[in-house]
Amino acid sequence: METRVRFAPSPTGALHIGGGHTALFNWLWARRTGGKFVLRIEDTDRERSTQEYEDTIMSGMKWLGLDWDEGPDCEGPCGPYRQSARLDLYRENAEKLLADGRAYRDGGAVIFKVLPDVELSFDDVVYGRIETKSDGLRERASGELKDIVLLKSDGMPTYNYAVVIDDHFMKITHVIRGEDHISNTPKQLLVYKAFGWEPPLFAHLPMILGKDKKKLSKRHGATSVYEFRDMGYMPDSVFNFLANLGWSAGEDKEIFNRGEAVEMFELSRVTRKPAVFDLDKLNFINQEHLKRMDPSARLDLVKPFWREAGLPVEKHGDAYLADALTLMGGRGQTAKELASFADYYVSFEPVKDRWKAENISEEMRPGLKEFFTELLAEPNWTAEALEARARAWVEKKGVKMKDYAMTLRFALTGMKVSPGIFEVSTLLGRDEVRLRLEFYGLL
Ligand code: GLU
Repeated sequence: METRVRFAPSPTGALHIGGGHTALFNWLWARRTGGKFVLRIEDTDRERSTQEYEDTIMSGMKWLGLDWDEGPDCEGPCGPYRQSARLDLYRENAEKLLADGRAYRDGGAVIFKVLPDVELSFDDVVYGRIETKSDGLRERASGELKDIVLLKSDGMPTYNYAVVIDDHFMKITHVIRGEDHISNTPKQLLVYKAFGWEPPLFAHLPMILGKDKKKLSKRHGATSVYEFRDMGYMPDSVFNFLANLGWSAGEDKEIFNRGEAVEMFELSRVTRKPAVFDLDKLNFINQEHLKRMDPSARLDLVKPFWREAGLPVEKHGDAYLADALTLMGGRGQTAKELASFADYYVSFEPVKDRWKAENISEEMRPGLKEFFTELLAEPNWTAEALEARARAWVEKKGVKMKDYAMTLRFALTGMKVSPGIFEVSTLLGRDEVRLRLEFYGLL
């Protein structure tokens, strides 16, 4: 039987980390098994659902690389894929339950009659056996059975009812969703039973906690998938990071791409232990992906942040800029950070803002001038030749290379830390190096 899974967001907010996580695990399982991934929009809350949220959820999924096979934008054999367009289906099926005496009307609403002692246990793929009986649905205070509303008086279905109708008619084989829905599952099983339908398998995903071990929320900072994009994280890294929440491909397999994840994924190896959302981990993963990236793709990612900082990106050729980023040798955890670490390749302005030559004393100047004049006299403008010439000079003078190289670093980058300064000099070019040194009166 073909695997069919679904992601069923309510378009009442952006795509959050939790939603992205659920979507991703469904996608992984569909792709792993060669099955189908269905996107269903649960928009029965007419007040809070908007087209705008639906659009951002979809574009957020696309950003993460989670494509779907059936959904409101592409339809498919089990459509429509928006609950608001399926109201007839909910009504017709509620009428069957009314006719069978399994439900009754109260006001305009249709209510499911909950009988006592109905066995509602199920084997969750992740959480294992979950034992429940319909008595558990009894209202605690009154001791009476709590009946379940199927259709509200305005004709709108409740979540627990619509989800069963849809999962059944959409032929869903695995319901993969957040563990906060475990408590809804018995109610849904009641409805399956009433219709005599085979329920799908349930796989609930562990809760995602902040570092303080509290449920992830706005308090923990960025929570929507797009906020991560805007902070300069790459979709591949956010994908990799989310996939590692509640599932692990094994030791030494922390970094992977989508294709590798699909090959390794096993639903039965998802853990129920709450997963901790650790930004340091995301930074580490992002840095690893940045390092592995193709130089021109890396450049595409960094450019917008340079532009945002007002740097004249268009003044330079792509090959030069891409080489500059490669020379950074894996520094920078995000594209944004890399852009700021490497701004001096794009313009001298940020260097001037950072370094005012305050640590250069008048006594040091003559020696520095002599050193830089010597360096600029090198006919062969390569890192090796520059370094050899610099070494020969400091040896002859009996001074320390460190002191001279440090000043060169400050004058060229405005920073205390940078890639090898002779490499940086080579890439910047003789004219630019001269210009920067002259500005500081070091030539
Ligand atoms: N619309 C529900 C939600 O966003 C779907 C839950 C489910 O997957 O059954 O939580």
